Amino acid sequence: MKIIFATKNEGKVKEVKKIFDGDDIELISLNEFDNIADIDENGSTFEENAKIKALEIYQLFKLPVIADDSGLSVEQLNGAPGVISARYAGENSNAAVNNKKLLDELNKFEEPHRAKFICAAVYYDGNNFFNTIGKMHGRIIKEARGVNGFGYDPLFIPEGYLLTNGELDLEEKNKISHRAKAFYALRKKII
Ligand code: IMP
Repeated sequence: MKIIFATKNEGKVKEVKKIFDGDDIELISLNEFDNIADIDENGSTFEENAKIKALEIYQLFKLPVIADDSGLSVEQLNGAPGVISARYAGENSNAAVNNKKLLDELNKFEEPHRAKFICAAVYYDGNNFFNTIGKMHGRIIKEARGVNGFGYDPLFIPEGYLLTNGELDLEEKNKISHRAKAFYALRKKII
């Protein structure tokens, strides 16, 4: 069975491909096609945005689609960066400038900077619609550590761990991450 994964984020693709590894499912990301326009994520929740991505890509291919929307929520920042995690420092920002902005904002507060990652995942095939949610609790540290993962990973230490997500390997992150929780639950519903 072919499923389109409605993302161009290679970090997500690596993580989610591993989750469906061994199943009779071929996951195809949007990077494997030319000229797919960026999707306007104008929802106000992770769930809404994941649904927007899945519906738009389903309309384009008429094939089963999975999509996710995810982000970081920091307690002392009242949930920011939240749904704008990918563009926290502006429309054309990247992980380095987003991480810098996060540290600048947190400078005003005492540690620990409690935070969580949230991932809403959906599946849509024209008939069935499934959705799930996954969370990973932890804290933000003052200096980036590690080169694995993507986004805010080098600044995030999961609860019960000493290493940042950037220092954990893919297998370790996939045991505890928000995305792994959401997609293992979604996989169960699909299969
Ligand atoms: P999305 O592509 O709209 O879901 O945006 C996700 C953004 O949230 C990413 O670009 C990162 O900034 C952040 N994010 C979500 N999940 C993770 C993760 O697992 N590690 C680090 N950053 C993440």
